[in-house]
Amino acid sequence: MRRIIFIQFDQLNSGYGAMKGADPKQDLILFVESARATRDPKWHKTRLYFLISSARHFAADLEAAGFKVLYRRAETVVGGIKEIMQKTEYASLPVVTCEPSSFRLTKALGNIGLEFVANDFFLTPRELFRNWASNQKSYLMENFYRAQRIRLNVLVEDGKPTGGAWNFDKENRLPPPKNHDYPPYLEHLPDEIDLQVAKEIGITAPTDWATSRTGALKVLENFIANHFGQFGPYEDAMTTENWALHHSLLSPYLNNGLLHPSEVIAAALAKFETGDIPIASCEGFIRQIIGWREYVNGMYWVLGDDYRNNNHLAANRKLLPLFTDSSKTKMNCVSNVVGDIEARAWVHHIPRLMVLSNLALITGTNPQEFLDWMQGAFIDAADWVMVPNVIGMGVHADNGLMMTKPYAAGGAYISRMSNYCGSCQYNPKERIGETACPFTTLYWDFLDRHRETFAKNHRMSQQLFGLKRLKDLPELRVRAKEVLTGLEEGNI
Ligand SMILES: Cc1cc2nc3c(=O)[nH]c(=O)nc-3n(C[C@H](O)[C@H](O)[C@H](O)COP(=O)(O)OP(=O)(O)OC[C@H]3O[C@@H](n4cnc5c(N)ncnc54)[C@H](O)[C@@H]3O)c2cc1C
Ligand code: SF4
Repeated sequence: MRRIIFIQFDQLNSGYGAMKGADPKQDLILFVESARATRDPKWHKTRLYFLISSARHFAADLEAAGFKVLYRRAETVVGGIKEIMQKTEYASLPVVTCEPSSFRLTKALGNIGLEFVANDFFLTPRELFRNWASNQKSYLMENFYRAQRIRLNVLVEDGKPTGGAWNFDKENRLPPPKNHDYPPYLEHLPDEIDLQVAKEIGITAPTDWATSRTGALKVLENFIANHFGQFGPYEDAMTTENWALHHSLLSPYLNNGLLHPSEVIAAALAKFETGDIPIASCEGFIRQIIGWREYVNGMYWVLGDDYRNNNHLAANRKLLPLFTDSSKTKMNCVSNVVGDIEARAWVHHIPRLMVLSNLALITGTNPQEFLDWMQGAFIDAADWVMVPNVIGMGVHADNGLMMTKPYAAGGAYISRMSNYCGSCQYNPKERIGETACPFTTLYWDFLDRHRETFAKNHRMSQQLFGLKRLKDLPELRVRAKEVLTGLEEGNI
């Protein structure tokens, strides 16, 4: 044997990272499952199940391909690797792994002497993104995205955007459709590995998520065949009628390596070529993959490890009980969204941004407590993606480094984009009184509390102008206090 290849749980692919060019005759494969992480109540059980079962399936695939695989369970990942390094039969072998996706693991694995190969699980090398960022006055995603389209030659003809525009966002903001036929999402029946993992974790094996490369490819195929065409128009909509609408559900597999973004893009473009997919859906989806996903990862490395500690709005409220228990609120939107997370560790982008993060923002919830909860709650959470999305996009704790204005909104937005409000005991149009929508009350209260902070932000001028015209501000301040107390007590 010439070396040990250590596989991280978010790099489960034989064509990329440290497995690229691996040879069963010369390379020994090492996985380490952390008992400390598995015990930690912070992690959603579905997330643990997905990560562990996917790793065990990948280990089994490698064994079937002729590799010798050491699958270890240890108290910590670092401890497990060290144990192997100290064994006499392996002591002379170098341990190689792919550059980790987080600051923490990069440091921890570097400290014990692991050799890194370049991380190619993204389409944009870190250095290339850093160069782009260093030439920008502000880090506008749209500018990065257009450069990506040209660099990767995606939906570009003679240097011009296919369909005549770079962005079809305006066509992609429809509310949920009425009496809509949603094609079903796949059900993934558990195999022996899944059942064993579920048993160890103490749950019934979930069927919403695949845990192997074969399963992940089927999810991609199903999205492209049945949902892609309608992805665009309803991408911002929220409904109690269907948990995923036309979203792809690909983030878990993209983030643990079972799928690579290049094959997702290739599948989408091949389908677009058939002429069956409207440009607004195709462009909207491509933007998520080559734009947002790559941008967020690039920003994570540019902004640095301390970025997570930002709290520019001095938000110090403790995490509200409704985030960890959907029964602790009467707000129909929040109880549905948190209920969906409890059920399957996933909701799409708009509930994450405009319900959960918006609520954390306007209640002044501590960004680090909120981040910690979000990281534990979602199946697709990873440090590189959660930190910028929460600290920058979600709760504007970074003084606008990533987003020029906060995504704060009242009940009117949720009412327009969902069917939650019709059966809610609160009224999105009211801002004071017992039946006022907590989002509406707290949205104005948030602007009121931070009017000085945003006074020079021209993108906030319309909102601040609206605030000046409120005649019932004294009553609103009183109601906002009641709402905040009610939320803390779990009875609003
Ligand atoms: C506060 C907040 C937290 C988030 N946390 C995560 C997270 O932990 N992990 C994660 O993968 N995504 C995260 N996102 C982005 C986005 O919500 C999810 O990627 C998406 O909902 C996953 O479902 P999907 O695969 O069906 O996505 P689709 O709607 O089908 O989009 C396709 C793909 O685009 C990519 N994408 C879209 N938006 C983003 C974005 N803002 N950042 C990174 N990738 C993006 C994802 O890979 C996704 O799979 C977060 C967004 C917000 C606002
Ligand atoms: S009225 Fe307010 S709290 Fe109720 S569902 Fe609508 S936005 Fe949510």
